[in-house]
Amino acid sequence: MKPFSISEIYINKNNLKSIDINPLPQKYCSFDCVFCDLGRTDIITEDIFSFNENTDFINRLNKFIIENRIEYVFINPNGEALANKELLDIIKLLKEKNIKIKLLGNGYIFSDLKYREILENCDEVIGELCVTENEDFKKFLRPVDGYTIEKYISNLKEFRKFYKRKFILDITLINKCCEREDYFEKMNNFIKELKPDEVFFETTRGKYSILAVDSKLVEKLNKIERYNR
Ligand code: SF4
Repeated sequence: MKPFSISEIYINKNNLKSIDINPLPQKYCSFDCVFCDLGRTDIITEDIFSFNENTDFINRLNKFIIENRIEYVFINPNGEALANKELLDIIKLLKEKNIKIKLLGNGYIFSDLKYREILENCDEVIGELCVTENEDFKKFLRPVDGYTIEKYISNLKEFRKFYKRKFILDITLINKCCEREDYFEKMNNFIKELKPDEVFFETTRGKYSILAVDSKLVEKLNKIERYNR
């Protein structure tokens, strides 16, 4: 999506009049994943920023949701929406109007208390996960220095202690990683610890693509907890 943009209106699976929004000026994320559909991360960071465009964006959004009677907003950023310091103002605006909110983020910083009010006001939160080993984590997700897979899981577990609404885990299968002998067993253990309400698997495109999901993989996927088939 374009910077600070509002998508076309669509009807979501619950029959609600919906839009996607991107509240970022460029790609801010604490990861620079090799398989990211959005391309390279412009600013690799876990910090928060105030953007000049926020006021205009919030005014435009307010007008748009009133005029179009929007019922559901998916915060589907080009990167990590939590990098926007004014995200709470956007959430409050939507909540005032009784609009349902879904937020997508990579999940590493969900446990940080400064985001708690934002996350608790979202009806659904999607977190991302794809690897089970630190070696793969550094190679394929290229995170901010010092990040580890153990801390990632531990942060998500902390987040799950306070976040009691719908948590969706989005797992990207990377061929080099999910070919590891114990990948699915470890991933299944992560899922048991994190207790998501739903689990989705996606395959990647390009160099790291899984060209065919073969029957052995389907068999392994079917053993995964809460896998949304
Ligand atoms: S965490 Fe998500 S948005 Fe950030 S680089 Fe990875 S795939 Fe892209």
